[in-house]
Amino acid sequence: MRPILPGATIGVLGSGQLGRMLALAARAMGYRVATFSPDADSPTGQVADREIVAAYDDRDAARDFARSVDVVTFEFENIPVETVAAMDALVPVRPGARALHVTQNRLREKTFLRDGGWPVTPFRAIRSRADLTAALDALGYPALLKTAGYGYDGKGQAKIATPAESDAAYAAVLGAHPSRVREQTAPVTSEPDMPEAGAILEAWVPYERELSVVGARGADGAFAHFGMIENAHAHGILDLSRAPAAVSPQTARDAAEITHGIFAALEIVGTACVEFFAVAGGTLIVNEIAPRPHNSGHLTIEAGATSQFAQQLRAVCGLPLGATDLLTPAAMANLLGDVWAAGEPDWAAACALPRVNLHLYGKRAARPGRKMGHLTALAATPDVAAMLVLTARSRLTRDPL
Ligand code: AMP
Repeated sequence: MRPILPGATIGVLGSGQLGRMLALAARAMGYRVATFSPDADSPTGQVADREIVAAYDDRDAARDFARSVDVVTFEFENIPVETVAAMDALVPVRPGARALHVTQNRLREKTFLRDGGWPVTPFRAIRSRADLTAALDALGYPALLKTAGYGYDGKGQAKIATPAESDAAYAAVLGAHPSRVREQTAPVTSEPDMPEAGAILEAWVPYERELSVVGARGADGAFAHFGMIENAHAHGILDLSRAPAAVSPQTARDAAEITHGIFAALEIVGTACVEFFAVAGGTLIVNEIAPRPHNSGHLTIEAGATSQFAQQLRAVCGLPLGATDLLTPAAMANLLGDVWAAGEPDWAAACALPRVNLHLYGKRAARPGRKMGHLTALAATPDVAAMLVLTARSRLTRDPL
C-alpha cells in the first residue's frame, strides 16, 4: 500500500475532542482535515480545514465526503455501519467496518472476546424480563445490566445487588429508553449478526484496579503500545489516569499480548485501546475495546515519544508507527462541566504550576458530566504527577473538588 503523504486530507467521522486532537496532530504534520458530524462549530470543526454538518445516516452526504478526502477514520464509534460501508467503497476507512461493528455493541464485543479465548466476565444476552431472572440465577449477585448498544461512560447501566433491585434495573436500562436499544441489523460484514438483544447482564468483577493499554496497528500489521496506564473512574466516567502503571512485568506482557491479539483479530488500523480490570493476584479481565484513541491515552501528548493521535495519523496513512516509549511519568485529570459550577475556572492558577498543561476542547455549554478538557502533569513518578494534576485541578475552583 502506498502511504498517504502530507498534503493529503484526513476525513474524520465524529467531531468531538478526539477528532480535535487528531486534527491538531495532522495539521502539525502538514495534512488537511475534514470532519463529518451533525454538529456545527464542533471541537474538531474548529481546528479542521472543513466541517461538514450532516446526519450520520445521510448516505449521500457521506459519499460526497468520502470523495473529498484521501482516507477516513473516526473518533466516535457509534456511526451506522451502513454509512461506513458506503464510504469504504470509495476511499480507505481505517479501522474498517468490522472493528466498528463488533465494538459498537457490548454483546457482540463480549461474544467476540469470549470466542477468541480472551478473558471476559461471564455474561448473558437479555431480551426479556424472564431472560434477566434466568441470567441472575446463573451469574449471581451483584451483577451489572448494561444496554447492548450506544452505551458509554457508564451510561445505560444499573448494578443489581439483590433480587429486589432487578425490576428497577430492567426498567432503567431497557424500559425507559427504547431508542437506546436500537440494533444495527444490516449484515454489512462477515461477522454473524447477533440475535436482537437490548441488553447484556455481566457478572460483577471484584477488581482491584482498572488499567488500559493504548496501542496502534499499522496497515502492514506492525503493532506498538504505550504500556499500561492506571485509571480511576468517578460516576462511571474516567477521572484520573497515571502512567506507567505499577504492574509486574508479567502483567504488562500479558496485557500487551492480549491487546495485540485483539487488534489483529479485529484488523484494526489506527490507534485503539483495551480496558482491563485487574483482580487479586494481577489476573486481567478485558472490560471494553475502544477502536479509536482513548481518554486514558491523552497523557501521551506530552509524555510520549509519539502521541496517540500522531500515531493514529501515521497508522491510517500507512506511515511507519512512531516510538511509543514514555519519556517521563505523567498523569491526566479530566475537566468535566462540573468544574464550571461556580463560574469560569481560574485557569491562571492551574497554569502557574510547573509541568502542568491545560487542554480545552472548545465546547460552549459546560454541562455536568460533559468532558470539557483535561490537565496533564509530568513528574518524576506517576504518583507525584497524579498529586500535581489533582492540585492543579483543585486550584481551578475556589472550592476544591
Ligand atoms: P463501562 O461503560 O462498561 O466501561 O463501565 C463503566 C465502569 O463501570 C467501569 O469503568 C467499571 O468501573 C464499572 N464496571 C463495568 N463493568 C463492570 C463489571 N462487570 N464489574 C464491576 N464493575 C464494572
